[in-house]
Amino acid sequence: MISFLKKLLTKGEDNKARERIFDVTKKNDGVNYIDDFIGLINLKNVHMTEVYKENEPCLYIRHDVDHSLEMGLKKAEVEAELGYKSTYFLLPTGSYGEEKNYYGTLEDGKIKYDSKLIDKCKRLLELGHHIGLHNDMVAMSLKLRKDPAELIKRELDYFDKHNIELVGTAAHGSPLARQLKFNNRELFDGCIRKGWEQGRTIEHNGWKVKLHSLNLSDFGFQYEAYSLPRDSRISESGGRWGGRILGNQIDRDKMFNDFNLEEFKKLISTLTPNSGVRAMQVMTHPCHWEVKENGNNQ
Ligand SMILES: [Zn+2]
Repeated sequence: MISFLKKLLTKGEDNKARERIFDVTKKNDGVNYIDDFIGLINLKNVHMTEVYKENEPCLYIRHDVDHSLEMGLKKAEVEAELGYKSTYFLLPTGSYGEEKNYYGTLEDGKIKYDSKLIDKCKRLLELGHHIGLHNDMVAMSLKLRKDPAELIKRELDYFDKHNIELVGTAAHGSPLARQLKFNNRELFDGCIRKGWEQGRTIEHNGWKVKLHSLNLSDFGFQYEAYSLPRDSRISESGGRWGGRILGNQIDRDKMFNDFNLEEFKKLISTLTPNSGVRAMQVMTHPCHWEVKENGNNQ
């Protein structure tokens, strides 16, 4: 690893990509995470905690880790090699009706944490990234019939015990949220959705959650991801690219059914400091990506 890093440091910018031990590419269209994507965005990369105060046009990177923290770590490595910083939002067990995920195992409504979770988080931090909560707490409160503030507190306490800070929160789009017409971010005061009534109560099987009833700062969260400026943004929910780049909506169906790598790269390359962008959000789900070995491991 050390010889690899040394080699990396002595190479010019252009050679960095070729010297990488492995690449991360998108499963269904082969987009190389660095070379075809974030490496083409010519904006200052900042942490999500810095977006509000940043005066220059900036890029921030958010990863919603729904299923694969293993793949998240791979992304984290390639990002760090090139000096990118991003935030990994971790999803407490139970959101997909599963008993077990990378985060832990659900037993009688309580999470038994995966024995490797903390080490993985420490690695993310070591690489210069941040960790946040992928928030499905309105849905989890309704499912588990537990107070949402208590559920959040429990997660914060666990990470706090290991000196890991969850700096912010990013809402998870769960099926229950779609079914009952709420967004998990609406748990917090100020996180409103246009046209949706503030402070309403969501009820499910006789259990109620009052929206907009908690304060982000009471939990030490510095932001809710959807509330940050993001006049340009791209994501690949469900494996399909979508979003808005410099005022132009991405045609999700066209890009999925008729993907053209050169056009994609051209679109991404329009994001420059003089393009008029204020803040560009890249949002990914590691499960849609895979590792490609480069065959020059040493
Ligand atoms: Zn999610």
